[in-house]
Amino acid sequence: MSDVLANSKAADPGDSLAVLEKQRSLAETFGIPLAVLAELTHRCPLQCPYCSNPVELDRAGSELSTEEWKRVLSELAEIGVLQIHFSGGEPTARKDLVELVRHASGVGLYTNLITSAVLLTRDKLSALADAGLCHVQISFQGTETAPADRVAGYKGAQHRKIEAAKWTRELDLPLTVNAVMHRQNLHELPEIIQMAVDLDADRLEVANVQYYGWALKNRAALMPTLAQLEETTRIVEEARERLKGSLAIDYVVPDYYALRPKKCMGGWGRQFFNISPSGKVLPCHAAESITGMQFESVRSNHSITWIWQHSEAFNRYRGTAWMPEPCKSCEFREVDFGGCRCQAFALTGDAGNTDPACALSPMHETIFKQAQREAEGETNRFIYRNFAGGTPETGENGG
Ligand code: SF4
Ligand code: SF4
Repeated sequence: MSDVLANSKAADPGDSLAVLEKQRSLAETFGIPLAVLAELTHRCPLQCPYCSNPVELDRAGSELSTEEWKRVLSELAEIGVLQIHFSGGEPTARKDLVELVRHASGVGLYTNLITSAVLLTRDKLSALADAGLCHVQISFQGTETAPADRVAGYKGAQHRKIEAAKWTRELDLPLTVNAVMHRQNLHELPEIIQMAVDLDADRLEVANVQYYGWALKNRAALMPTLAQLEETTRIVEEARERLKGSLAIDYVVPDYYALRPKKCMGGWGRQFFNISPSGKVLPCHAAESITGMQFESVRSNHSITWIWQHSEAFNRYRGTAWMPEPCKSCEFREVDFGGCRCQAFALTGDAGNTDPACALSPMHETIFKQAQREAEGETNRFIYRNFAGGTPETGENGG
């Protein structure tokens, strides 16, 4: 509560209390989200150059213990959360994953595993299914083995993913294929759609890279051209029509080329939170890229409900009162909530600015032109994601 008071701009204590009351009632308008992302670890054998994890990764020694995660899972179920998405890093790098899935299932949570799949064996997947796992989402870097392994920075990744996807369906678990798309693999989209069909997936996510964290470091190597994007949209629309009823296709566009920003996370502190490997409760999985913000931890004395409703970080950009112009008087302010705070910070240095993806932002023209320049540039080599702060790609594949 004192954090909220300390950060209000009120002139006297009476005003402070009025601000606090207003923030409270705003926070309490939003019930606890129905689904929560649990990032069990930042460890991962892959090194994707677009990884959404922060550039400063949490080390293994700071991760929540098995007992701490169990306590968190029980608390989430008690406060009304229905689904838990186990993610990372690579969640199967945690030796206690089966135990955590069993616990989550035991307290009544629907469990989804978001995985690169390269550490899975059939026995491990079978044990997870027996423990109550409800759904598997596997990320793919492409369809062709060598280019896909190059993006992953892991030889043999593609082969293992295909195997794990087949085991998933053999075990009768629903499968989502997550395909992260960028300039260097968008030409494979028709094959990726066919791969999802062949793997008997229920859902395909065609997720264009979003540029913060590692992807921002690699933007020049990943940014698609406008022509590629237009073609992608055409292919997705055609496939949606053709595969209606057998494969659902989600499509996330990169917003550098958009006119209006996405409603990021459904609006800051409105519909979503995630828990980082070290237990921080975050309004967005990229929120730690905003330097200078303090995020409360499940290791603190506060309950998760208190953190959601009253912590300074969740209230800072909740609702519309924090907005500067042009958002403040814009008719879309309750439609997109000013776009993405992490992107505003990454591109303008202030998370409180209008997301430059918006055509009304004074920065929009600049970033649009920058995206075009980078998309048409020669930079193809990656900086691979790792605990050392990134390793530049060497060898012949980078072009
Ligand atoms: S995006 Fe790639 S490197 Fe990042 S956690 Fe997922 S599989 Fe690992
Ligand atoms: S000015 Fe702000 S509220 Fe209006 S469309 Fe742009 S980002 Fe959205």
